[in-house]
Amino acid sequence: MKKTIRDYDLNNKKVIIRVDFNVPIENGVITDDNRIKESLETINYAIDNNAKVILMSHLGRIKTIEDKENNSLKIVSERLSKLLNKEVIFINDTKGSMLEDAINKMNPKDVLLMENTRFEDLDNEKESKNDKELGKYWASLGDIYINDAFGTSHRSHASNVGIASNLPNGIGFLIEKELNNMKEVIDNPKRPFNVILGGAKVSDKIGVIKNLVLKADHILIGGGMAFTFLKASNLPIGSSLLDEDNIEFCKSMLDKYPDKIILPVDVKTNTNRTCFISDINIDEIGLDIGSTSIKVFKSILADSKTVVWNGPLGKFEDENYQNGTLEIMNYLSSLDATIILGGGDTASSAKKLGFSDKFTHISTGGGASLELLEGKELPGIEIIDNK
Ligand code: ADP
Ligand code: MG
Repeated sequence: MKKTIRDYDLNNKKVIIRVDFNVPIENGVITDDNRIKESLETINYAIDNNAKVILMSHLGRIKTIEDKENNSLKIVSERLSKLLNKEVIFINDTKGSMLEDAINKMNPKDVLLMENTRFEDLDNEKESKNDKELGKYWASLGDIYINDAFGTSHRSHASNVGIASNLPNGIGFLIEKELNNMKEVIDNPKRPFNVILGGAKVSDKIGVIKNLVLKADHILIGGGMAFTFLKASNLPIGSSLLDEDNIEFCKSMLDKYPDKIILPVDVKTNTNRTCFISDINIDEIGLDIGSTSIKVFKSILADSKTVVWNGPLGKFEDENYQNGTLEIMNYLSSLDATIILGGGDTASSAKKLGFSDKFTHISTGGGASLELLEGKELPGIEIIDNK
């Protein structure tokens, strides 16, 4: 078990919290403040416990001086201030006397946000390459370090691994939730444990397939990647998405786990017809699973006690091809089971189709969620002390 923010006395302490404020911004406006909202529980806990709260986050990628202009956290500090209903001191720098003086003047319950950690990337990528001195310097600004930026925990950066190596540390509520709902569930699932995999390419998901095939009772495969599996079973796939380089990998999985891996039997194609896989025309593209496949998937899912799902079952961005994803989400929401969704587009599809609050947990970490599904240790979490 990892130490958490609850394991420390925060009273009058300078608590550095690494949050994920990497929000989408268009023309100077935050278009989705979900990530800021998700960090509030940990920030409020620190305020309630009389900490001096020092927040750090990255925003976007910083490769040139011009990138700084569009990626300042100033506008995030204003939104955060509204959400907390409290002043947020924003320091327009990532080091130096202005930052240090402001921190020294802080009172308990004050909240300070430092400028984008990745501004340090302009100096030999010091943040992203976890420069030792930078991690040490940032650690010198606080007494306790809390990592709550799940979305960057699969990277070893100065603002997570670097600081954590130099201070007493723990995880925040957001990461704790991700570990309890993803890692713990995958490591010790209640059975039957069924996995649904979809999305675009097999190549993105090889690690996920290899890890989950060992743990799941069934793996239902849809989305674009189903076609490479179908091709590997010598079925025609028309002009559907094919990941040529991974046909052999799919073949080996099907040979090894013939009863575990379940493929679609019919598809909805770009010509708007549904047909059995064997009837697909050479120039047709499969963009969603068909109604018979939906029935087969439901019958397998029926007795699940745990379901983990990554990757939409069709091209859900287009209304014509969202039915498979929608029907299966709807069915899952009626089951008495632990249902976990992970992956950037999987989370967006749940949101778009109206299922954001219908499941046990939706992991929004993108790359970090995938690495948990792959069974990997995430460096930003591994570095945190155990209890
Ligand atoms: P996640 O981000 O949740 O890990 P992916 O990035 O792997 O998911 O996959 C999402 C993408 O897969 C979506 O953009 C969706 O349109 C695409 N997709 C799903 N099914 C198909 C299909 N049959 N053909 C082409 N693309 C598909
Ligand atoms: Mg994606």
